[in-house]
Amino acid sequence: NTQALLEKQADIDSSAVAYPNDIPIAFEEGKGATVRDADGNTYIDLFAGIGVLNVGHSNPYVLEAVHEQADKFVHTVDFPTDARLELIEKLDEIAPEGLQGNNRVVFGGPTGSDAIEASIKLSKYNSEGDGLIAFRGSYHGATTGAMSVTSNTKLKKHYAPLLSDVVHAPYPYPFRDGKSPEASVDHALEEVQAILEDPYGGLANPAGIIVEPIQGEGGIVTPPAGFLQGLRDLADDNDVTLVFDEIQTGLGRTGEWWASDWEGVTPDAMTSAKALGGVGFPLSATMYKEELDTWGSGDHAGTYRGHVVGMRAGTRAIEYIQDHDLLAHARDLGEYIQDRLLEAADETDHLADVRGKGLFIGAEFVDSDGNPGDDIVDAIQQYCFEHGVLIWTAGRHGNILRIIPPLVLTRDLAETALDIVLEAIDHAVE
Ligand code: PMP
Repeated sequence: NTQALLEKQADIDSSAVAYPNDIPIAFEEGKGATVRDADGNTYIDLFAGIGVLNVGHSNPYVLEAVHEQADKFVHTVDFPTDARLELIEKLDEIAPEGLQGNNRVVFGGPTGSDAIEASIKLSKYNSEGDGLIAFRGSYHGATTGAMSVTSNTKLKKHYAPLLSDVVHAPYPYPFRDGKSPEASVDHALEEVQAILEDPYGGLANPAGIIVEPIQGEGGIVTPPAGFLQGLRDLADDNDVTLVFDEIQTGLGRTGEWWASDWEGVTPDAMTSAKALGGVGFPLSATMYKEELDTWGSGDHAGTYRGHVVGMRAGTRAIEYIQDHDLLAHARDLGEYIQDRLLEAADETDHLADVRGKGLFIGAEFVDSDGNPGDDIVDAIQQYCFEHGVLIWTAGRHGNILRIIPPLVLTRDLAETALDIVLEAIDHAVE
């Protein structure tokens, strides 16, 4: 069945579909942290639809509200509904401390890219300037503004001109830049400062800084402590909007509601999507400080600013995380997974770095010369697939194994999955 579906997809679907080239699977059903394919094979899911399914596939507590809501109505544009106002209040409750009670939410369209566009417009609207600082290794999405702040040149080379005033600063990546954690942070912050302040090499009119608190697509690159606070200070000193892109890291993924909570730093604006729609409904939002709420009615408009079913699902998913203390679970299970990976790292020089927070984990592989080990990671992914574990990769060279399971993954399933991942590593580095 899988083969037939893949062949049909190849015949009629866009050549741009991303994943079937890596792993030939067709989905039939998902429950919690497992999925079943079209031939009845079951897999443990360490991918969660790119970090979307934090409360698990088809979570019944969320779906109950989805069915109720769908029976009433699905679409209202921006008109008030209980579902909309409930989610705004819920987001305020879990917002970074400095945003709580002072938080506005502009819902985006279905994708994270929409929220990024809103955050760019918000930064520019509230500034005399129009320049943006982003970071090397970043991924922010596929629309024009989001591509502009994304650093991957391969993804943008056919689409010039993009936004012109965007400069990419180095992101602290001690494993790759060969600096100590402190030196890596200092270097990145000095470069940002130069871009903000140097009239020769910098941006003429900076409006904002946009940054992932932990880089996702870039390879679960986890900046040492001090980086986000340093950016906060530079944004304050230079009167620019600081935007945290929490699209992949947010809503409990890292064992805190937001990755930036680990450092206790509050941004001026923050993007969310992916897990925001509860069980995979397309919904995005940009949260921002009330003082930036200067748009007039309809200044940032759109048809799908209020997917009522997605909003109900989002609120229920947050409740589910609260009721089941999944933040603590994500921290504990994340520690267990990192410990198991470190065990593997003791056995092979090819596993060179294990990093991340909560259930946002990356394992970086190198070849015998210390160059990116993307072939090793591909072999691990393939072995895992053949043995019932779905796992994906990340990083500019595709040499980072990315472990981002549903937060509902149980300890038992995690043990089984990690046994297979460790076997796969053994097998791939032989
Ligand atoms: N920002 C980050 C950090 C992301 O990881 C992604 C998607 N992987 C996006 C933005 C874009 O989201 P979407 O694909 O929903 O447009």
